[in-house]
Amino acid sequence: MSQSASKSTPLKRLLAANHQAWSAFQARGQAEALKTLTGLYEHSDWIVEQAFQAVPLSQLASPAALKHQLVLVVASASQEVQLALIRAHPPLSAKAKIDDAIAKDSQSEQSLVGLDRCSPQEFAALTELNAQYLKKFGWPFILAVRGPRGSGLSRATIIQTLARRINMPAEEELQECLRQIHRIAEIRLDERLGLSQSLGHAVWDACEDLAKITETPGELTVTYMTPAHRQAAQWIADQMRSAGFDEVFEDAVGNVVGRYKADAQASESGSKALMTGSHYDTVRNGGKYDGRIGILIPIEVVRSMSSVGQRLPFDLEVIGFSEEEGVRFKCTFLGSGAVAGRFDQATLEATDSSGLRLADVLKEQCRALDPAALQAMARNPENYLGFVEVHIEQGPVLTRTGVPLGLVTSINGSARYMVQITGLASHAGTTPMGTRRDAAAAAAEFMVALEETAGSLADCVATVGQLEVVNGSTNVVPGHVRLSLDLRAPTNEQRDQLVKSTMSLLESICGKRGLGYSVEQTLLASAAPSDVGLAGAWQRAIESTGLPAHPLPSGAGHDAMKLHEVMPQAMLFVRGENLGISHNPLESSTSHDLQLGCEAFIHLLDQLAASQTSKA
Ligand SMILES: [Zn+2]
Repeated sequence: MSQSASKSTPLKRLLAANHQAWSAFQARGQAEALKTLTGLYEHSDWIVEQAFQAVPLSQLASPAALKHQLVLVVASASQEVQLALIRAHPPLSAKAKIDDAIAKDSQSEQSLVGLDRCSPQEFAALTELNAQYLKKFGWPFILAVRGPRGSGLSRATIIQTLARRINMPAEEELQECLRQIHRIAEIRLDERLGLSQSLGHAVWDACEDLAKITETPGELTVTYMTPAHRQAAQWIADQMRSAGFDEVFEDAVGNVVGRYKADAQASESGSKALMTGSHYDTVRNGGKYDGRIGILIPIEVVRSMSSVGQRLPFDLEVIGFSEEEGVRFKCTFLGSGAVAGRFDQATLEATDSSGLRLADVLKEQCRALDPAALQAMARNPENYLGFVEVHIEQGPVLTRTGVPLGLVTSINGSARYMVQITGLASHAGTTPMGTRRDAAAAAAEFMVALEETAGSLADCVATVGQLEVVNGSTNVVPGHVRLSLDLRAPTNEQRDQLVKSTMSLLESICGKRGLGYSVEQTLLASAAPSDVGLAGAWQRAIESTGLPAHPLPSGAGHDAMKLHEVMPQAMLFVRGENLGISHNPLESSTSHDLQLGCEAFIHLLDQLAASQTSKA
């Protein structure tokens, strides 16, 4: 790891400032380093000491590598020790006068957000919630009040977070406190070592700015071809122009396309391009990072390349896909589908909730809608090295594992069904228990068994998201149940195995209870396993940041699935805060994790550049 980090290339020089700060820190030696890091963890210097015992400072490739070791040390400590660490922290102090017993770092962190200047209502709320929290869990509420950008949370956000976390199960909340403690240490480490998160801050700020454009004030909603959607497209195009892209245009389905041209030599020899990007549309009341970081990370990386005149030996094509979520017209992947040459003309007849046809909306918004233009958008896969996509994880795996970046092994294949179970509706008072043909009881048994079956198959998930007792009444044994089934797995073989097991459960449970059932398939989507070459490049890129590459499948669908149909693809996941919650305003990412996403993207480009140059 340290070898690849030390061999400097023009692209790696973009990351030189932090690299130099780290090298200078290492050069001071371990004893001096321990002094510098005193108090990084509140009254708990044993964490840094043990991290250096596990891996000497000289062998830690980067600040990210050190932070990973610190996480491992705390994770492997006993619960008693973890609790002592949490209890070494002061409770959030909502006072006019600051308590002198609070360690100096905590004091300045808390006064930064003005906890010493609470209104009487805020003071009362914080005092009451703190007391409730302490009573429920037996340890103080820990929150990195500097927040995901390091610039401080509002008092309202702090109070809301405290109110929300009181409802967490104790084991989960203990882990969340430990994550917050690592976050506090992460911000302190920047100050002690003089590290900069300038790329991460730029992406974080861009996500905030873009999120100001919305259909629903106070929430983030950007659905296809609404005025907010048009404004967001314009905003992205402006960002691309200011970042130094050579060509920026909007295509016939509203994708915003930016091309950063190859160096002169590669342009002459007609080298292949690398495509990257993600979607800028959102669900209703969605998160600020879903899709968008896959556009904004490449834009910020191009900005830093163009600021020093750095070119790649291939064109970089960054696409902000106009539509992925399927909110307005119930058709998903309109943007990436068109680029992949899979735009289905029939979708032009789709209508939104007010009856407007997609074809008419496109004609009005894109002016030049011409079905021929839609077909012409299809890229020739032969002109591309492949497609890479950076996306927020949208799940809890990376947060729980304590690693900021994830290597996507596959986008899960899925199968969906509507299931009807038919028994016999009869009098709830007069039908003895042993003689009932209860469709709802069968559905319940089926769901519990399915939970266990899916849980026993690696990386498989199964969900009953809709469940209805048709014409049910309080005093009638349920005779008819309708339920939905959503089954997902990393490969088509695993998906088919899960379907088979699910269907045999249904058969045996209904058979045993003397019930009938029918199954209608509503979706069958193939898995999109990552390309071995591109995934290998992502893996080395993650390792170049000093982190382990944690492999995981993607449970959600992504634009990369569409590109997968025509070219090699591989994705990188960035960890989300709040247990990875997504499609929710609580979706969050820190500028540190976004910085690592940028660094991994730069290392990926660096590798692809090296392999292109060696081929030429
Ligand atoms: Zn997304």
